[in-house]
Amino acid sequence: MNYKWSRYLRLILLILAMATGVGAAFGYPMEGLLAGLLLYLAWTLAQARKLYQWLSHPGAGQEAPASIGLWGDIFDGLHKLHQGHLATQDRLLAQFNRLQESTNAMRDGVVMTDARGVLVWWNGSASYLLGLQRQTDRGQPIQNLLRAPAFKAYFDGRDYREPLELNSPARPHLHLQIQISLFGEDDRLIVVKDVTRLFQLEQMRRDFVSNVSHEMRTPLTVISGYLETMVDYSDELPARWKRAIETMAQQSTRMEALITDLLLLSKLETGEQHGADVTVDISALCEQICQDARALSGESGGHQFHLDIGDRHHLRGDEDQLRSAFSNLIFNAVKYTPTGGSIFITWFTNSEGGHLSVKDTGIGIDPVHIPRLTERFYRADPSRHKETGGTGLGLAIVKHVLLNHDGELEILSKIGDGSEFICHFPRSRLDEPEPERQTASLAPGSAPEARNEM
Ligand code: ADP
Repeated sequence: MNYKWSRYLRLILLILAMATGVGAAFGYPMEGLLAGLLLYLAWTLAQARKLYQWLSHPGAGQEAPASIGLWGDIFDGLHKLHQGHLATQDRLLAQFNRLQESTNAMRDGVVMTDARGVLVWWNGSASYLLGLQRQTDRGQPIQNLLRAPAFKAYFDGRDYREPLELNSPARPHLHLQIQISLFGEDDRLIVVKDVTRLFQLEQMRRDFVSNVSHEMRTPLTVISGYLETMVDYSDELPARWKRAIETMAQQSTRMEALITDLLLLSKLETGEQHGADVTVDISALCEQICQDARALSGESGGHQFHLDIGDRHHLRGDEDQLRSAFSNLIFNAVKYTPTGGSIFITWFTNSEGGHLSVKDTGIGIDPVHIPRLTERFYRADPSRHKETGGTGLGLAIVKHVLLNHDGELEILSKIGDGSEFICHFPRSRLDEPEPERQTASLAPGSAPEARNEM
């Protein structure tokens, strides 16, 4: 390149020297030099004009202008750059088309929005599932087209760890699962899946469990009723029937409890049991439950109950559901804590919300079981369930009640070292603070008002 450049310089100097020489031959060397410079300038301008015209219309196949010397090399270089650029453009376009074809072939809908939530691009499935129109909807904010409040809350909430499920706005018989990912500078990639089939299967499963439980309830009530009557008169029965009847009565009571729990769980799952949203006094509720727990403990005997309820003890929610969740936790503490153990029930509030902790000094749970404890019929120690007589649905009910109250269950436990179950409720569920502080703990046999013992 340097060699070429010095060649161009030498050529220009030679031309100027020749012009000066011709001028000198006529007695005007400076005028000759000036004429040479002017000629060179005119030629340079002509080349620059050619370049300008070519750059103004660089059509795909258009050749670069022909020239010689320095300008010839400049044109050739630019032509090569232009060709390379066109080839890259073609390659990128081909790749983009392929990508578009493949995303159009996807069964899942894919939508891209910019930082303002404006629709930038979407595939064919997204048009079908969400009813987006290619001609009219590009450039529109997505929230103008998907108006479901749940979608707005999900989109604006920016917490996309869990997907959102809703019915398609364009085809209400379709059930969709929407998952958003953030990329670039606050752009969003929205993946829409049609989960109608799964949703229907899940619905069928819930209906089946609920119908079977419902249908079994009446015959079981009749059987239990007769068995209880027979147990009452068991002294009049032959001795070999007595034990059989008592066992049958015990088992039918267990089955009744199981069916009650199954029905409650299916109501909680279907949202049938979503209703009430009243102010619940946690203090009164826990005291009532502790009374029942004391009765339950009375059978095996001797648990110490410590109840400590903080100042703000009002929560918005469904009292029956909360009673059922807290009872399950407190009764479990009784069932899984040997005689003489302690059970601490604490309600406190902080900047995050309200928290109910049920802590015991019982047998504890191996941490490997903790993530699965809220599954239906999951038991950390299956050999014990005959002893404790539980249905295996208690913690599943707790989980669903908490879900209905925007809460979460935290479980802390070590084998042999007791367990702590904490229900966390968000701040939005707390009601106005109560002026008095209430602390009570009741020992077995003492009145509920006694300090710190129940
Ligand atoms: P169950 O009717 O068997 O008690 P739950 O759903 O209430 O069913 O509890 C699930 C399992 O969790 C229990 O079987 C038991 O193994 C374990 N568990 C629950 N609460 C406690 C506790 N306080 N201490 C030890 N283990 C517990």
